Amino acid sequence: MSEKIEQTPPALEPMPEDWRRALAVVAHPDDLEYGCAAAIAHWTDGGREVAYLLATRGEAGIDTLDPAACAPVREAEQRASAAVVGVETVEFLDHRDGVIEYGIGLRRDIAAAIRRHKPELVITLNHRDTWSPGPGGPWNTPDHLAVGRATLDAAADAGNRWIFPELTEQGLEPWDGVRWVAVAGSTTSTHAVSAEPGLERGIESLLCHRAYIEALTDQDPEEYVREFLTGIATRTGDRFGGVPAVAFELFAR
Ligand SMILES: [Zn+2]
Repeated sequence: MSEKIEQTPPALEPMPEDWRRALAVVAHPDDLEYGCAAAIAHWTDGGREVAYLLATRGEAGIDTLDPAACAPVREAEQRASAAVVGVETVEFLDHRDGVIEYGIGLRRDIAAAIRRHKPELVITLNHRDTWSPGPGGPWNTPDHLAVGRATLDAAADAGNRWIFPELTEQGLEPWDGVRWVAVAGSTTSTHAVSAEPGLERGIESLLCHRAYIEALTDQDPEEYVREFLTGIATRTGDRFGGVPAVAFELFAR
């Protein structure tokens, strides 16, 4: 009989703090609120500017609501949830929810936004196949894979004037100032930031997606959101000195 060795994942390093502007790029309304918004609240408290870019309006997210009726509801919920954590700029690319295609068009759209916003930090969501590192982990969605991957790529595309010369012709000069791409919800997180200052607003921020959450669960929305976000932050804290935290996999550039 072989002895099973439990592997403890390494401690998470603190996220870099020496930056002014971030751009968060995700597929759907609620992607940032499922864990990341507490970190964003903390960062905007410190005077940093954070803008959101969403590839879709999440119009395929509620079974009982036709996409045409769903899009404006989810857009409004996203704007409200952003405002709770100090984010005023929320933009939508209008790719189709559920069938976002990874490719040059998506990379160009994200690169254009990076050139406009000039962030040092770009944030996105898990671009890998599953949500947990071991075999048989919950399967991720193709939209998250497409947007996460295109965002990692676009951070470099934005700085190269020859990759999308049409953007330069539109007056969007190259921006080679992205220093990191931080992937939230990664299976292999490396860094973290304390969730303590922002957790209550993170909870309030996810609660703004009320139509979505009410369609998702029979549990009381506030109870569901509080349990979910507190649970993740606490488990992340096990690798961050016992401080409830939001984890990221940090790709330095
Ligand atoms: Zn999503």
